[in-house]
Amino acid sequence: MVPGAFNYHRPDSVDGVVSLLGEWGDDARVIAGGHSLIPVMKQRLTDISHLIDLAGVDVLKGISIDGGTVTIGAMTTQHELIASDTLHVAAPIIREASLQIADPQVRYVGTIGGNVANGDPANDMPGLMQTLDATYHLAGPNGVRTVAAREFYEAAYFTAREDDEILTAVSFSATSGGYAYEKQKRKIGDYATAAAGVLLTMDGNVCSSASVALTNLSDTPVYCEAAVDVLVGSSVDDAVIAEAVKAAVDASDPVADTRGPVDFKKYVAGVIVKRAIHSARSRA
Ligand SMILES: Cc1cc2nc3c(=O)[nH]c(=O)nc-3n(C[C@H](O)[C@H](O)[C@H](O)COP(=O)(O)OP(=O)(O)OC[C@H]3O[C@@H](n4cnc5c(N)ncnc54)[C@H](O)[C@@H]3O)c2cc1C
Repeated sequence: MVPGAFNYHRPDSVDGVVSLLGEWGDDARVIAGGHSLIPVMKQRLTDISHLIDLAGVDVLKGISIDGGTVTIGAMTTQHELIASDTLHVAAPIIREASLQIADPQVRYVGTIGGNVANGDPANDMPGLMQTLDATYHLAGPNGVRTVAAREFYEAAYFTAREDDEILTAVSFSATSGGYAYEKQKRKIGDYATAAAGVLLTMDGNVCSSASVALTNLSDTPVYCEAAVDVLVGSSVDDAVIAEAVKAAVDASDPVADTRGPVDFKKYVAGVIVKRAIHSARSRA
């Protein structure tokens, strides 16, 4: 299928992008890798008159690690995340999760900015960003602001980003301790039936910090505070893991679709969260 006609813009600065968004309003949309946007344009599910390509904005690309803070430009591709050894040292869960996204062809082009800004509950990076307690950096006509990833997602495809803003970067603290991103999918390249990210720090035999988040188990990514409360202060033994898994599954709210009925998804969520906690515990 062929998309409708549109005007193509390729600004070379964030200000240029914001100015075009201000000029064309609802008729304009930014494009990053295009792996989510182009299909909906081809299916004529959206009518866009002005496409603003972010590829010419160099400041949106790259990974920097400064004083324990990791900052990733919105136009950094999933392949670049996987290939970065410094990022792997700072936050190994990123490579583990990124390698489970789609296939290499998609990952060469798909960007972290497009993945987190889209608000698609099936995307893996929003859940990953909950796990990392990331901060999103947004630029708009009134300047720059930040929003916690855990407060960004309002409903499927609805986020705290205003129409005239773009996401410029994500940042988070480098991680230590154990980590895991586990994903169940129907076949290679598919979106998750259920996925979970876990971070776990052990101080001797006691869990001193934890993070648990879910992908594609609600209309937004889910940060599982109750599961974290169960884990922190415990020895993360089998009984504690069972309790944390239950808390995480209780926090999920999946809908029935081609990936299965609700009960099945909740069952898979339990298996995936359990695996992720075990894996993070063994690496902590
Ligand atoms: C076959 C296939 C399988 C896939 N499987 C998975 C999977 O398993 N897991 C997964 O996580 N993803 C998956 N994806 C999605 C893919 O990984 C991309 O991350 C995703 O398409 C979005 O990134 P993009 O750069 O292509 O964004 P685009 O398609 O260019 O943009 C997506 C949306 O975000 C907006 N946007 C883009 N960048 C910005 C920005 N900087 N600021 C504000 N708004 C912005 C656009 O306007 C658009 O509305 C799959 C895609 C395909 C085609």
